[in-house]
Amino acid sequence: MTMVTILVAGGGIGGLAFACTLLEEKSTQNTHQEAHGTRVVVLERASSAEAMKTQLSHSLSLRADVGGIRAVARLGQEEELRASATGSQGFIVAEVVDRQVRKVLASDEVFSNAGGGIRINRFVLWQALLKRAQALGADVRFGAEVTGLQQIDLKDHRGESGVTSTTQHCVEVTLADGPILRGDVLVAADGVGSVVRRILVPTWTPNFLDTIIVGATVDVDDTDAALPSALRRRHGSVCGRRGTSVFIADEGNNRVLVGLALPTSHTTRCRRDALQHDKALLARALDAATEYGDELQPLIAKALLAPSASVITCRDGMCIPPQGRVVFIGDASHPVSPFAGAGANMALVDAVQLADMLSDALTPHEGFGVPHDIPCVLLQFFEQTAPKWNKVVQRQRSTIQVLHTTSKTGLFLRDTTFAVFRFAVVHPRVSAVTATTTLAALVAGVACGVWRLVRALA
Ligand SMILES: Cc1cc2nc3c(=O)[nH]c(=O)nc-3n(C[C@H](O)[C@H](O)[C@H](O)COP(=O)(O)OP(=O)(O)OC[C@H]3O[C@@H](n4cnc5c(N)ncnc54)[C@H](O)[C@@H]3O)c2cc1C
Repeated sequence: MTMVTILVAGGGIGGLAFACTLLEEKSTQNTHQEAHGTRVVVLERASSAEAMKTQLSHSLSLRADVGGIRAVARLGQEEELRASATGSQGFIVAEVVDRQVRKVLASDEVFSNAGGGIRINRFVLWQALLKRAQALGADVRFGAEVTGLQQIDLKDHRGESGVTSTTQHCVEVTLADGPILRGDVLVAADGVGSVVRRILVPTWTPNFLDTIIVGATVDVDDTDAALPSALRRRHGSVCGRRGTSVFIADEGNNRVLVGLALPTSHTTRCRRDALQHDKALLARALDAATEYGDELQPLIAKALLAPSASVITCRDGMCIPPQGRVVFIGDASHPVSPFAGAGANMALVDAVQLADMLSDALTPHEGFGVPHDIPCVLLQFFEQTAPKWNKVVQRQRSTIQVLHTTSKTGLFLRDTTFAVFRFAVVHPRVSAVTATTTLAALVAGVACGVWRLVRALA
């Protein structure tokens, strides 16, 4: 029996979902085909499953529109995950006016398919994937930090004359504590700071979005008392008028996720624990929180002062093409603004699609090694996924600008848009087309006015 070894750098959501799908697919194939082996080795830097808990404490949204729901259904885990959801009834966009939180729109009131999403704790999702991957036979290794790699060609010497008959291309991965592992393909699923990417494409650096998110998940005595009514049993963003916004998620069990987004011009990487050391940053964040009034300020301050408070630097980047037998998925390939609420969905979709494509291609040839056209399959995967993900990444850059606008024109346009949304929610018969047309007319009117003013001044 020929053994094909797939190495996966990173045992996060994308890496584990890939392992599950590939092994599931292979086990189905093996019941019909001649037996051959596929070994999946997942290399995770965190020291243990327990250590992942702190890394994955807050919730995320699995969405129908980005493909996350289809991906977990494909993994056979949709029902299990729905049963473990946080209980959020959908996302909300709100604004703060005169220190009062005012609802702009709630997804379930606007989109008929809003019920399709699942808001779930990251660790719960990750644990479900880990359990499934291990049950299917994945070799998941903790404390396995990838620090180096090289792609090599092995010659297979056969026959008495010792003539070289076959070449096997493989990837050698070096771990921090010394061991070297060899595989036929390496899937880089090691997140936004990907070491694999830094080794193979050192010129590619993520784009800093001039925004950081500071906050934590905090316990409250009573969620209903701690949150304005519009935010209870929901998750979503509240836009301020001084260039900040705050993301709130009711996590259930009297826990609330609070993330205050602050525009920043720091180009250097902000440390995760910066709030505990950088007094100026903490003071700036506490000052920004005052805008959110009595309804939210105490909660934001509590999160900022929590020992677990952390800083997330918002970054994004366009998809990275495969390099030989190394392919990138999830944040390692295309980090996306956290405001998109889409990165984990994209990682899941990548994982399922790549596993499906590789599963067919990896059926071993008779004798030595796996097919030589694997790099072509990896390239096809890139060509199929990159255009749509690059669009998502690009589109989400403007979300931050809209949420954090401070210019008079920007605020006018945002207020107008929000007013149209509110009107459409209160008057459900007003179709999206009418709302969009009204908005387009307003934008055109403003543009026309500006143009006439410019001409008059010229
Ligand atoms: C505040 C915030 C909110 C978000 N909300 C949402 C949301 O609602 N919906 C959504 O879809 N997405 C959301 N995202 C994005 C989402 O979290 C990521 O896009 C997703 O986790 C990417 O999955 P991944 O598997 O590619 O990478 P990761 O989840 O980052 O996993 C990478 C794994 O690789 C490991 N690793 C790193 N380096 C190495 C190494 N050298 N060797 C071995 N292992 C290594 C890490 O420990 C980690 O376990 C949010 C992100 C943030 C920051």
